[in-house]
Amino acid sequence: MIKIQWHYPKSLAEASSLLEIKNIIPHGGGTSLINRDFSHVVGLLNLTELGLNYIKQDNAIIEIGSMSTYADILTGLKSISPDNILVKSLQNAANTPCRNRITIGGSISFAPKWSDVIGALLALEAKVVITGKNDGEFLLSEYLEQKELRQQSLITAVKFKNFSHRSSHYREVKTKNDMPLFTITALLKMDKDQIEQAKVFIIGTTERISQLIELENYLENKLRLEISEEGIQNLVKVSFNGSRITDGDYLSHKAKIETARTIFRAMEIS
Ligand SMILES: Cc1cc2nc3c(=O)[nH]c(=O)nc-3n(C[C@H](O)[C@H](O)[C@H](O)COP(=O)(O)OP(=O)(O)OC[C@H]3O[C@@H](n4cnc5c(N)ncnc54)[C@H](O)[C@@H]3O)c2cc1C
Repeated sequence: MIKIQWHYPKSLAEASSLLEIKNIIPHGGGTSLINRDFSHVVGLLNLTELGLNYIKQDNAIIEIGSMSTYADILTGLKSISPDNILVKSLQNAANTPCRNRITIGGSISFAPKWSDVIGALLALEAKVVITGKNDGEFLLSEYLEQKELRQQSLITAVKFKNFSHRSSHYREVKTKNDMPLFTITALLKMDKDQIEQAKVFIIGTTERISQLIELENYLENKLRLEISEEGIQNLVKVSFNGSRITDGDYLSHKAKIETARTIFRAMEIS
């Protein structure tokens, strides 16, 4: 049996050089690592001494350090951007003990099908800051698509513009404590009663992450009164596989109904 060694780097340079060693992996909150097969892991990188737990705003750009927990973000972001979609998406994510441990960095790297943050961050067009073998700022959508960006690289922060928007987040859960079967995130930029820009994401579909581009096109440049529930439902064309549930057709139907409700809620919230 391989003995796993803990490492406590004091600088990003030290962390990066440790990540060059094969099978040393970062430890965020540890909430998904706890279920991991550790047979090949030789070391864990504790990130707590790297100063990565912060939330700040500079020139209307909000930056969240990767070691900020869901609870830290809820508290910190509420004072900077109380109506932010990320606040809404985290409000009911997981239970309190988990919210105190789960980090934003670990959640972006792991990006589970039940994620409450991925839809919100994609809607905000967030960028991920990484260091190590790969270095720089990348759109979250690129980071999620290009698996090689994860290799031997540490997420240090996530950044997005602080702009005025209306939004709503829906979680499809069997009970309050369950991880969601899927989530819907709707973000709208509105000028009075007209939608200027729409972003709609469903996380947890067969494709894992679905951006509803046809629906976004239908919503954009329309007045609120021109939008119908039926019009929205017809453009929600997502499927679900049966790995965590037995009836994918039911979930597809539910996603149509709840997407329409989520968008209507977003339009009502000023
Ligand atoms: C009971 C329970 C309920 C949950 N419910 C929800 C829910 O409702 N909604 C939701 O969104 N989430 C939920 N989660 C959280 C989710 O399932 C993951 O466990 C969580 O997102 C992982 O974050 P972490 O900080 O614990 O990462 P870790 O478990 O520490 O790490 C996860 C992965 O990311 C890597 N990693 C960690 N930090 C970094 C970094 N800075 N840079 C690069 N790679 C990194 C690790 O090496 C590992 O591969 C729940 C978890 C539990 C245990």
